[in-house]
Amino acid sequence: MEPNDILYGLGAIFVLAILIRIFGPSKGKVGERKVANKLDWLPRNKYMVINDVILPTPHGTSQIDHIVVSIYGIFVIETKYYTGWIYGGEHSEYWTQNVYGEKHQFYNPIFQNEGHVRALRRVLAEFEPLDIIPIVAFSGTADIKMDIKESHVVYWSQLRRCIRRYNKERHTWKEVKAICDRIYEVKLKPSRRTQRRHMTGVRSAQIHRERAIKEGRCPRCGGILVERDGQFGRFYGCSNYPRCRFILK
Ligand SMILES: [Zn+2]
Repeated sequence: MEPNDILYGLGAIFVLAILIRIFGPSKGKVGERKVANKLDWLPRNKYMVINDVILPTPHGTSQIDHIVVSIYGIFVIETKYYTGWIYGGEHSEYWTQNVYGEKHQFYNPIFQNEGHVRALRRVLAEFEPLDIIPIVAFSGTADIKMDIKESHVVYWSQLRRCIRRYNKERHTWKEVKAICDRIYEVKLKPSRRTQRRHMTGVRSAQIHRERAIKEGRCPRCGGILVERDGQFGRFYGCSNYPRCRFILK
């Protein structure tokens, strides 16, 4: 083989790798697919699953990984395909992912999912009162090092069991279908434009939160942030505690 051939070969592999990186499925998408497969096993005469739903909101869009509409209530599921240790407070703005000492902060997924629930409620206003149950589901490659008391934060393997624990009938099958029809009617098609609208919304929400914190206001309820002494040092908490449990370290 000529040295040139080897160079061309390497070049082709390099280009292919970049193309796969750009156009191939992202890790998040692969995770969503895996969870969708797990949800497929819910009994079809009681549960309807809608994956990857983009809903319009006043400031942009809300992207929901999975919605399970059932006679027992509606489940809104946020999936996280993470590795490493996951820790943070149930009511803290940010959580931490620690992969072999490499730390990375991310927005509290419980709060993120509350946003999804709000967007869904807005769309389903005509069906209220509704029981909407948010669930955050992590892949088994993550190790959740925290004590969650008031919300559902589970591993993918526990997701179905978590959903099936709800067994009090709330809706007729006819209502379930009407709710799904409504979601299909309003959900936006994934497109470059939708994605842009989503990113603009995410950014403006983040700016809004940061501005509130800078002004000493709670980004969740508008209360005043007050300095407190806790078990693990000083922190800022919301003046509306215990109604609002927002915490900033
Ligand atoms: Zn608050």
